[in-house]
Amino acid sequence: MNEENIELPKALTAKKDEDFSKWYNQVLVVSDILDKRFNVKGCFVWRNYGYEIMLNIKKIWDKMFKEQGYQEMYFPLLVPLEYASMNDKWWNSFKDQAFYVKGLNEKKHNYILRPTGEPAIYPMFSLWIRSYRDLPLRVYETVSSFRYETKHTRPLIRDREITVWHEIHTAHATMEESKAEIKNHMRMWDKLWKDLCLVPFKVNKPKEECFPGSVGAVEYYSIMPSGKIMENGSCNNLGQAYAKKFNIKFKKPDGTEDYAWMTCTGNGGRLLAAVISVHGDDHGLVLPPKIAPYQVVIVPIFNNKTKSKVMKVVDSLFNDLKSKGIRVFVDDSDESLGSKLYNWEIKGVPVRLEIGNREVEKGEVTLFRRDLREKTSVKIEDLNVEKVLKEIEEELLSRAQKIFKEKIVEAKNIDELKEVLKDKKVAKVHWCGSTECSEKFKEIEDGVELFGTDIEEESEGKCVICGKKTKTIGYVANTY
Ligand SMILES: [Zn+2]
Repeated sequence: MNEENIELPKALTAKKDEDFSKWYNQVLVVSDILDKRFNVKGCFVWRNYGYEIMLNIKKIWDKMFKEQGYQEMYFPLLVPLEYASMNDKWWNSFKDQAFYVKGLNEKKHNYILRPTGEPAIYPMFSLWIRSYRDLPLRVYETVSSFRYETKHTRPLIRDREITVWHEIHTAHATMEESKAEIKNHMRMWDKLWKDLCLVPFKVNKPKEECFPGSVGAVEYYSIMPSGKIMENGSCNNLGQAYAKKFNIKFKKPDGTEDYAWMTCTGNGGRLLAAVISVHGDDHGLVLPPKIAPYQVVIVPIFNNKTKSKVMKVVDSLFNDLKSKGIRVFVDDSDESLGSKLYNWEIKGVPVRLEIGNREVEKGEVTLFRRDLREKTSVKIEDLNVEKVLKEIEEELLSRAQKIFKEKIVEAKNIDELKEVLKDKKVAKVHWCGSTECSEKFKEIEDGVELFGTDIEEESEGKCVICGKKTKTIGYVANTY
């Protein structure tokens, strides 16, 4: 058994503010998201409840991508080494992180398990793209990626098998089209994040971290309660850099040839990690209504005498909510009332309705809102669950916006910067743009880095490291 996985909590005892990492690991287990006891480091089993939540996130992106005209495909997980080595720069950064595969009777390892999509997809793009008529080509798939992580692994954040991961790859005839494509990716991500009641931290990736020859990348980050920031999807404008490596060429209307302009983007389980971390509390998960497996759970409370009377009201309410398209479940199991309430609270069900004899006689239900942890009595004829779910979404989003604002603090010099980091926050600084200065940020503390620059804002100031005049605003934080 893996030593990281021995602890198997039965209850949520850790406090989110005191020990975020412990809290996170407990929540994953007690709310039935996953089981870490599978004996491969960095791999876990999705349990039904957690998988259901993840698949609800997937449904959002599937619908969005199809509406936007992306073609869903599937490429093999096994990638031949000849494809993997076509792009030497890509290969240099992944060959130490790859899982090598060979058949029993094969002498050498001829394949790797895909660490990213490019070497699986681009050799096929080079076969499919011949003329400008074949462009744009806009493809996506939902798939697993494999990385031989040597660092400490964390479920949904740093795994060796990255599951329910989607990626989009596109090829275009002009740079302008590829830029418009990136804007479209960002519009889609912004919508997805809003559905999850989350606020993305969008930055331009520092040039030296982008792929050589690419145009640039906008990176999405989550600010975690621990103050660390977590990379959470990126929109990469690859320019013609990959097309040149994989020989993806097309004939233009005038008969001349050019390399395609390409983009890619992708994300997966880290979206759920952000949902858990940002919205969850000391009582467990708090799920945004759009991805909750059950948006409403009805808990009937009865004895032998009152059962038929109570269940009549419960059944009619259940049918009414179901007919409105609300995901609803009736918990009439033999569990004690206390453990039912505890269970649905820890699982983050947005709305719980309790109906007992007292409620039936008054024509009411007791409504519990998970986000506020408040109970109110509502007349059945006044009950508007759709409205309540909407209010929960608004509340969660406004909380996320508040946390986001509070977590970013300006720092005018190194001392202020250190204070901000000590406070578990993200520092907004002026940076001259040089690699030497960005290296200096890393010396502040292990894990600290300048992870990006503002995508819009510029202002006059001085680099907090070297004092040189600059307009560039950068962000410094502890990273995962
Ligand atoms: Zn500087």
